[in-house]
Amino acid sequence: MRHETKKTILVAGGAGFIGSHLCDCLLAAGNRVICVDSLLTSSLRNVLPLQNHPNFVFIRHDVCDEITIGERVHQIYNLACPASPPLYQADPVHTMMTSVAGTGNLLQLAAHQGATFLQASTSEVYGDPQEHPQREDYWGHVNCTGPRACYDEGKRAAEALCFDRFRAGEVDARVVRIFNTYGPRMQPNDGRIISNLIVQALNGDPLTIYGKGEQTRSFCYISDLVDGLIRLMNIQPNAGLPINLGNPGEFTICELAEMILAMIPTRSIVVYKPLPQDDPQRRRPDISRAKQLLCWEPKVPLVEGLAHTIAWFDATLVQKPFARAP
Ligand code: NAD
Ligand code: UDP
Repeated sequence: MRHETKKTILVAGGAGFIGSHLCDCLLAAGNRVICVDSLLTSSLRNVLPLQNHPNFVFIRHDVCDEITIGERVHQIYNLACPASPPLYQADPVHTMMTSVAGTGNLLQLAAHQGATFLQASTSEVYGDPQEHPQREDYWGHVNCTGPRACYDEGKRAAEALCFDRFRAGEVDARVVRIFNTYGPRMQPNDGRIISNLIVQALNGDPLTIYGKGEQTRSFCYISDLVDGLIRLMNIQPNAGLPINLGNPGEFTICELAEMILAMIPTRSIVVYKPLPQDDPQRRRPDISRAKQLLCWEPKVPLVEGLAHTIAWFDATLVQKPFARAP
């Protein structure tokens, strides 16, 4: 599919893991990119190579505060929100406000600018799902009073705001439900499973498995996800429906740990820690809608994506001495 070019595109959360890869792709396609980020869960390192790009602008801003942009913006991607459970639970009220007030402010900007809007929602809107795999018409099973609610319910409210604005004819809003995505530029200490296990193995530290490790996740490589995001933003007409993007391959956490141990020669052992409250037991996207509407499906198998991710951490991480198995 040919991507649209020569637009001015605002990426909120553009210095983060997914956002920085998206900025790279949008710039490579000839667009102007305005990256808006508070750097809450990222660092400028992700976008440092872009700082001197003539079409790249960085604005440090918390999306909970109103935002105006003094030039025409054609598209807005809203990726601003912490995504890792320990980080989004560190300041739960701010996480909720980021999704609700932040999405509200960016939708207001989109309405004012006539910009197309894409909201990064999440598989977490399905909570601990009772239907498997998860289709977009499943309403979910979320504990609205638990420690994950700040994220899950915030994202559900943000979806509601998008569809209200869409139904009112005020914003051409699109909603993507992203399933676990991984790749280079994940923060080494952000607490998510793939970054944790790779960093632990490279350092020779124990690999931490929460619970029995029988819970499952589906892991999508970053390049596949970014391709899907750009397709959804540019598809015409807007179907006005949420769309799952993820890799339907489903793995237990133990299987994932075994794969990583097979790929990194390490002295690490496996240790088991308590399962966090409300941790979803099964997760796998039904991607029929993305296949049909976007002609999209993931191309990178887990073992290949892990190899790229391990190589990146290996090259960028300051590792402990004597971590590797002889
Ligand atoms: P990330 O933490 O690397 O990136 C999030 C970015 O948003 C960071 O740069 C952070 O500084 C910024 N941010 C957070 N709160 C902000 C605020 N109030 N104002 C401005 N900037 C703010 O996480 P990611 O994995 O790149 O996730 C990006 C988006 O995708 C998030 O909205 C997340 O909910 C969604 N998502 C990610 C995954 C995944 O597996 N990575 C899965 C589902 C949904
Ligand atoms: N997990 C784990 N060890 C870790 C980090 C996470 O066993 O060091 C588990 C976590 O309990 C969950 C799964 O791995 O069941 C995925 O966790 P992650 O934080 O990556 O994302 P989630 O899908 O839960 O938002």
